[in-house]
Amino acid sequence: MKFSPKIQRCELSPMRKYAPYADAARARGLRIFPLNLGQPDIATPKAFFDAVKGFDAPVLEYAPSDGVPAYLQAVCGYYHRLGHTDLGTGNILATNGGSEALWITMSCLLSDGDEIIVPEPYYPNYSTFITLSGGVVRPIPTTPEEGYHYADRKKIESLINERTRAIMITNPGNPTGAVLTRAEMKMLAGLAHERGLFLVADEVYREFSYDGEQLASMLEFPEAAENVIVIDSVSKRFSACGARVGAIISRNTEFLSEAMKCCQGRLCTATLDQVGAAALYNEGPEYFAAVKEEYRRRRDTAYEMLVQIPGVVCRKPEGAFYLMAKLPVDSTDKFQVWMLEHFSASGDTVMITPGEGFYTTPGKGVNEARLAYVIQHDELVRAMRVLAEGIEAYNNR
Ligand SMILES: *Cc1c(COP(=O)(O)O)cnc(C)c1O
Repeated sequence: MKFSPKIQRCELSPMRKYAPYADAARARGLRIFPLNLGQPDIATPKAFFDAVKGFDAPVLEYAPSDGVPAYLQAVCGYYHRLGHTDLGTGNILATNGGSEALWITMSCLLSDGDEIIVPEPYYPNYSTFITLSGGVVRPIPTTPEEGYHYADRKKIESLINERTRAIMITNPGNPTGAVLTRAEMKMLAGLAHERGLFLVADEVYREFSYDGEQLASMLEFPEAAENVIVIDSVSKRFSACGARVGAIISRNTEFLSEAMKCCQGRLCTATLDQVGAAALYNEGPEYFAAVKEEYRRRRDTAYEMLVQIPGVVCRKPEGAFYLMAKLPVDSTDKFQVWMLEHFSASGDTVMITPGEGFYTTPGKGVNEARLAYVIQHDELVRAMRVLAEGIEAYNNR
């Protein structure tokens, strides 16, 4: 029996590699601060659970393939409040998280040998969905010195060829925390429009932008109305990762009707989860203000403590809940293993995410790492001290 070459080109998460080391460290009594996790620690709004508890129907039926009407209306209302009042529920498809939204979108856009332009470093699961579609990533190189921004239109344009089908961006960025400026977004919208490419905008961290004006969505550029496909989710916005509810939003009706084939094929997104998710969208601006303030405070602390470590290269990230940086070590992979096997600061150590897993270009990211600030502020302070001590001890070993 043979497996498909497509699935064999996919990889298991590089993070699982460190789990056995972490288990062994915990068994020895070490406390590990998990700066490696992307799981938000903020409480899910009670509205979700209340809505699920209040669900009262004799049969738990399939939902419509495009989504539960209350959920679609809730998402639609949210986009209206962002100013996209022309969008209707017909521009939205409910999906099993942003993950399935990505999977469906890649299935619709890519075929064997097609290319998709993605700034690197990027969210590793993109590779799985792209590879399963037969597509190939054409990375836009970025640097820690420039805060992982990609503002150079010529550089991106030079990556386009006859096999290019789309540009995909994450904004705010995971793993980089970079938030594109309006000018950068406009450049991408113009480029996609002029070159006839889809522009897939993964905006699952939309609310988590800490500086300056309210972040724009790629939906804001009318010139690219037909090009833009937004990937959305309640996972990060409402700290509801287990709900598995996301959405595809687009003004391109041809694309939506192709995507609907996938939605019908998988029948529906979980009915109860959509009921809960619809209720989440009743959270008002004070909910986001409080959550944002908490993350902003942690971002500031993590960043200020990180750049005090001699040799670290990091530009202040503007959003999401991650920092990506060049660390003064030969290899963040080796450093991570050493931190779990040989290091202890009064019984404490930290986990980070080594950078290589976010790159498709071999050899890149070797001395970079992603830090997630999804732990309590006082624990974060301790974790950053432990990290600084760890780096020093590692280089003096
Ligand atoms: C978390 C995440 C997603 C999707 O998560 P879901 O839980 O499936 O909604 C998509 N893109 C990025 C960049 C993420 O970090």
